[in-house]
Amino acid sequence: MPSLRQLFLEHLGQTSGAPLMLEIEKAEGSFLYDREGKDYIDLISGVSVSNTGHRHPDVVAAVKDQADRYLHLMVYGEVIQSPQVLYATRLASLLPPSLQSVFFVNSGSEAVEGALKLARRYTGRNEIIYFRNAYHGSTTGALSIQGSETYRNAFRPLMPSTTMAEFNSELAAGMITEQTAAVILEPVQAEAGVIQPDSGFLESLRSACDRHGALLVFDEVQTGFGRTGHLFSLCRYNVIPDILVLAKALGGGLPLGAFISSQEIMSSLTNNPPLGHITTFGGHPLCCAAGLASLEVILREDLPAKAAAKERQFREELSQLPVREIRGEGLLLAVVPEEKKIIPELVRQAPTYGLLLDYFLFCDDAFRIAPPLTITHDEISFACQRLRSLMHDLSSGN
Ligand code: PMP
Repeated sequence: MPSLRQLFLEHLGQTSGAPLMLEIEKAEGSFLYDREGKDYIDLISGVSVSNTGHRHPDVVAAVKDQADRYLHLMVYGEVIQSPQVLYATRLASLLPPSLQSVFFVNSGSEAVEGALKLARRYTGRNEIIYFRNAYHGSTTGALSIQGSETYRNAFRPLMPSTTMAEFNSELAAGMITEQTAAVILEPVQAEAGVIQPDSGFLESLRSACDRHGALLVFDEVQTGFGRTGHLFSLCRYNVIPDILVLAKALGGGLPLGAFISSQEIMSSLTNNPPLGHITTFGGHPLCCAAGLASLEVILREDLPAKAAAKERQFREELSQLPVREIRGEGLLLAVVPEEKKIIPELVRQAPTYGLLLDYFLFCDDAFRIAPPLTITHDEISFACQRLRSLMHDLSSGN
């Protein structure tokens, strides 16, 4: 009988030639456990998904409760499914008055696609401005606004009428014109290696969009749900987009995405033609129930505010390691080691030391720390001890 490893390689489409290949039996809180019972501290959160940890009891209870009531009933938007309505209403209660209409989909890429279609439909324009080193997903539309020529060139032809700007450049706002349908950006660029906006940058885009009738789209797929120490980055920077894109932690560990706008903007998808944007599984009741339960945990336990103290502890403990710089805020951190050449080995060997670390797609000088927001102070110390051994062994050539 072939091993699971062999079957994994033979029957699952592979995303790279070097998958992690851990065989995980169970996950709970901040830990994953493999078949031998070895534990791994999760410093990645499935890439900013498990903000309330793995299998939070409230999330598991909500999923079980919903599974006892109904699963898929009908394509999105036809019948009233209480998990969708309750979740959309709760999100709306936490967002500004201009972000009250939630269109649920299945993933971040799909939410980005919806946002692009919505912006083009509402403005009647084509051009989309995006930023260098932006990541918005792997579907063709999202890839067309990915800020890396390496990835774009591999899959041409792409969607036309896209223009790349430089993040934090004063010139970016000047590129917005009467042809611009939307400017889309991550308010904190994640895969670029956690790049925060300079003071005034988001404001300058906001006012240029207002001047020219273009829509501002924030992709908060990674930054949402407390990750950067605020429920959403738009609260942190006090700049309100016309369309907000959410996914990852939105589903509390289940697949869910959403694009959110005013009712006026969203209504432009309703007609001409009707059913011009539809999804079978978008807003699946299990995912909405899980997401709402997870959001309530984030709010009840004040996890965004607590992320600041946890960030401080990471910074203090990591400052005793061979680390040159730590970028970011809250629990979305890019750690720049003194020797950048150790990063590939650091990530590859981390599981041997009981750690899960990751790279960034577009940044080779840092590795990522983005644990569940529920990580405890003891677990942070424990993770940093493991990281210390790993970095020590790597620099002494073990
Ligand atoms: N936007 C951002 C900022 C992301 O980080 C990602 C995923 N890493 C996406 C969109 C795409 O999300 P998904 O993988 O769910 O399609």
